[in-house]
Amino acid sequence: MGKIIRGTFLNPLSHDQIQILQSGFMRIDDDGRIESISSQHLPGKGGNYEFIDFENLLIIPGLIDTHTHLSQFGFAGIGNLPLLPWLNKYTFPEEMKYRDTELAYRRALSFFQRCLNLGTTTVVAYITAHVEATHAAFGAAEKTGIRAFLGQVLMDRNAPPELCVSAKSALPQVEALIKTWHQKNDRLHFVSTPRFAISCTAELLVLAGDLARNYDLPLQTHISENLDEISETLKLYPGNKDYLEVYERYGCIGEFSLLGHGIHLTLGEQHRIKDAGASVVHCPTSNRFLGSGALPYREMVNRGVKIALGTDVAAGYDLSMLHEAREAIETSKTHNMILTALGRPVENAMSIAEALYLSTLGGAIALRKENSLGNFAEGKWADFVVLDDLHALPFKEEVSEHDSAIERLSRVLYRPFGGTVHSTWVGGKSIYNSKGAST
Ligand SMILES: [Zn+2]
Repeated sequence: MGKIIRGTFLNPLSHDQIQILQSGFMRIDDDGRIESISSQHLPGKGGNYEFIDFENLLIIPGLIDTHTHLSQFGFAGIGNLPLLPWLNKYTFPEEMKYRDTELAYRRALSFFQRCLNLGTTTVVAYITAHVEATHAAFGAAEKTGIRAFLGQVLMDRNAPPELCVSAKSALPQVEALIKTWHQKNDRLHFVSTPRFAISCTAELLVLAGDLARNYDLPLQTHISENLDEISETLKLYPGNKDYLEVYERYGCIGEFSLLGHGIHLTLGEQHRIKDAGASVVHCPTSNRFLGSGALPYREMVNRGVKIALGTDVAAGYDLSMLHEAREAIETSKTHNMILTALGRPVENAMSIAEALYLSTLGGAIALRKENSLGNFAEGKWADFVVLDDLHALPFKEEVSEHDSAIERLSRVLYRPFGGTVHSTWVGGKSIYNSKGAST
């Protein structure tokens, strides 16, 4: 049976455009795709429709976390060291635990369930170097019903030997993962995942780029997160004018590339990323936690660089994209304060609507899935989050005069206390409901 959902819809259309339907209606077909979104109650295209009324609630597109690490969630909230010592002290020992496939499956189930509880309908995650743990993560994603873009982490140097796989050994492992899971249904996708240039030889980077092109996969990696990381990369890859050139030289840059962080990219690198159609994934919580820096968001948007948003657990200490959206706004303000102190010109900080765009349609565009995900439009999957913003009101017994849809969303972002995510829907089905029931 199809569904008709009523509520207040916030529908990002572009960086600076948002459609708001105060009492809107979304009609969903039997398969879970959107038939229409309108301020009027349009008749269905025949067949039966269940009417579901969220009249007093906010509805946003499903949140898309475009950069996170499933295997690091176990130490979220501790370890605020700079990037390279942090990897050695916390990350690699934690990732080694995933040799235990049962643990990998159990944790993956819990991780994806938490994503759904927080309104994330699509997650793009690094697993570990272990092929079995990656199979287990796909199995868990399938069971929970989340949309998952997952990758076995490729490393062949500067990491513990157990986490290193040569290009020759990695190829059959990755091909088996692709064959088993990639597009098994509309929700599961494999991602080519070279961790970063420091932990990959040229041969492994070439493999990662070839996989992305040959199988039409996204490719995720890290770039210019930390100044020591940049200088170490250029030492390991002499003869390159900058960090990006290393990835370019070995075929890792194209429209398929999701480049985590990118805080310290030069102007030339930003222009080349834009020309290649690659995306930068902004990870503001992580960037502050490890003291990496603040992304020059407005400058990069003005230069036409595509930007998405990611929690980057565990350097980001929470899986909530609503928190991450707030942090993106606050980081943008902090960056402006620094510019002001330096006597440089300042433009508007990121708005609430932009933060929602980055958390939804921005992620879909980075994944090249904007035709099926990211906002409310005919033919797209009905992935959405229902928000009960009553929980965010300072005085719950009083009606607030600040009740525009944007003001209500602002309160949800800034006062994210228990219960604001009412329910999470993927492909027209409720797969998390704070009251325990599913539709
Ligand atoms: Zn990361």
